Amino acid sequence: MTRIAFIGLGNMGGGMAARQVVGGRDVHAFDLSEAAVKKVVAAGAHPAGSIAKAVETADAVITMLPAGPHVRKVYDEHILPHAPKSALLIDCSTIDVDSARAVATQATAAGFRFADAPVSGGTAAADAGTLAFMVGCNEPHFADVEEALKPMSRVVIRAGDHGAGQAAKICNNMLLAISMIGTCEAFALAEKLGLAPDRFADIASKSSGNCWSLSTYAPWPGVGPVTASDRNYEGGFAAAMMLKDLKLAQEAAARAGASTPLGNNAEAIYQLFDRLGFGGKDFSGVLQMLRGNLDGLGR
Ligand code: NAD
Repeated sequence: MTRIAFIGLGNMGGGMAARQVVGGRDVHAFDLSEAAVKKVVAAGAHPAGSIAKAVETADAVITMLPAGPHVRKVYDEHILPHAPKSALLIDCSTIDVDSARAVATQATAAGFRFADAPVSGGTAAADAGTLAFMVGCNEPHFADVEEALKPMSRVVIRAGDHGAGQAAKICNNMLLAISMIGTCEAFALAEKLGLAPDRFADIASKSSGNCWSLSTYAPWPGVGPVTASDRNYEGGFAAAMMLKDLKLAQEAAARAGASTPLGNNAEAIYQLFDRLGFGGKDFSGVLQMLRGNLDGLGR
């Protein structure tokens, strides 16, 4: 049985580790939070007690941690010194491209195979095993990465070499933020012009303005499929998480000399939304701020 070490069992990692159990893998799990470990143990994983214990005989090590500094530290201090060289190392966290490349260089120099494999899809997709993975790894290692991710995935795409998975993730999320804000602005203007929101959505989704934020994840409650907007913007993809990804995109753009004025504006808009106290709301809730209807969001 394939033995998986799973480190980071939060909102995403908890569901992902449970999918590995469902996929027939022998999962050894660790998190700093005992409550998070307990949940995954109830789903059939073994509690490891430490990262060193989790990885010591692993075939594959999967990490799902908050940000770059956590990933650098966990790899440097715990995974690389204790995992067998045969273990395939996969980081699924969303982190900055530089950290992903630095960890890849360190892991490769120590004789490991490494992949950055951030995900698209929120906690529902993590629980259902239907995440989309974008992978940065050496081409010959991709088949093994795909196999390791199988129980958690709907689709696994190789974006390129180390760091390319993270690059794809932040570009995708910058595009998503811009298209969501654009959709919200269009709804807010339609309302001011006396156009019913559902009529506008019906027309635009069959016209050239159509996009995912409009037809699949409409920010206006009661329009389109049921989304976080129908639950007062609870659950879904937190605005604070989107802000984190937009900051990563802006940092990467500054380093690479790329011009991203709309990405820059999107970051400022989500920054304001977060400062107003709505970072925990779904990112589509920015509609209510743009409508001047913060009361509609509750607290
Ligand atoms: P989370 O905060 O719920 O979980 C992170 C977990 O890592 C926590 O349980 C924490 O205790 C654990 N952790 C931190 N440092 C650790 C250490 N040194 N050793 C062991 N465990 C440690 O976050 P999340 O929502 O699960 O997100 C995880 C990653 O996935 C982030 O990079 C996030 O950007 C990305 N992501 C999240 C979503 C989402 O919808 N939540 C969607 C796509 C990608």
